Amino acid sequence: MTAEPILTISGLNVDYGTGANGVRALRDIDLTLHRGEVLGLAGESGSGKSTLAYAVTRLLSPPGVITGGDVHYHRPGGGEPVDILSLTPDELRAFRWQELSIVFQGAMNSLNPVHTVHSQLTDVLTAHRPGMRAAERTARAEELLTLVGISADRLAAYPHQLSGGMRQRVMIAMALALEPEIVIMDEPTTALDVVMQRQILRKLVELRERLSFSVVFITHDISLLIEFSDRIAIMYGGRIVEQAGAAEIYRDPRHPYSDGLLHSFPALHGPRRELTGIPGSPPHLSAMPTGCAFHPRCGKAFEPCAERVPALAPPDAGQDREVACWLHH
Ligand code: ADP
Ligand code: MG
Repeated sequence: MTAEPILTISGLNVDYGTGANGVRALRDIDLTLHRGEVLGLAGESGSGKSTLAYAVTRLLSPPGVITGGDVHYHRPGGGEPVDILSLTPDELRAFRWQELSIVFQGAMNSLNPVHTVHSQLTDVLTAHRPGMRAAERTARAEELLTLVGISADRLAAYPHQLSGGMRQRVMIAMALALEPEIVIMDEPTTALDVVMQRQILRKLVELRERLSFSVVFITHDISLLIEFSDRIAIMYGGRIVEQAGAAEIYRDPRHPYSDGLLHSFPALHGPRRELTGIPGSPPHLSAMPTGCAFHPRCGKAFEPCAERVPALAPPDAGQDREVACWLHH
């Protein structure tokens, strides 16, 4: 992809706890989000997806600590990249919502039950646009609801009067309120709601085309990402093990783990794949296998796999994809 980067993550390490009790949850993460792109982040539960979302937005709370690496935001129009990891609390407050917003795992249940949609949407505007008049805030709230496909007359509703899908859309409206450049969505609906996740993702992609923001969409269900994202990064044991265009991952996954994930979820379109799943279970942080963390579950493991960690690099020189697997290096 030739698009310019908007968010670059390099060498990011995150630990939970320190000293003898510390475990490493993210290892040497290198990842770039390009302008206007939908980047999908996939991996089984516990692979570190949420930790990555929290770390890059500086929302990681103890015992989580960033122990290394850099995260830079590249403002549209150029200028010095913003070093997110060294923003002061005031700078962070301005940065979140305006430049980057995040919708958390299970967020639709985090709407305040005793406040109307109107008051929750306008709160964001009140906090960040002190010059805006009440009537302007209401107009903007109406506009935002309409944008996510909800009739403006639902502004007066309380969260319990809306369906789960509508509450999720309200969360997206809120995330878009200040026209951020980047929206991160971490498993916006539960594991069971594949249909709803699909609707949300389709809406986001449509809005992205109109409003030209960039998206990181996190889910354990890779079949959604195949359909809606431009590029997919796959995590295992706190590392990125493969990243490539969505079509390339679908047609030709290079990491045996990516291949396993593709055979763990029914494809939404196209030829049916046999669902074989992945034998075994993901590693615990306190007992991470040596070498490639996936090797104990990998049907293709050979000598180097248990010994050394494979680098994330293009399988063939010059390719615009990367894989961390000894089969290719
Ligand atoms: P995912 O979002 O991919 O399911 P997470 O980022 O939530 O993964 O978790 C990655 C790893 O970090 C898991 O092994 C999880 O148990 C561990 N972890 C997450 N939060 C904490 C915490 N607050 N304290 C200790 N370990 C944590
Ligand atoms: Mg998670």
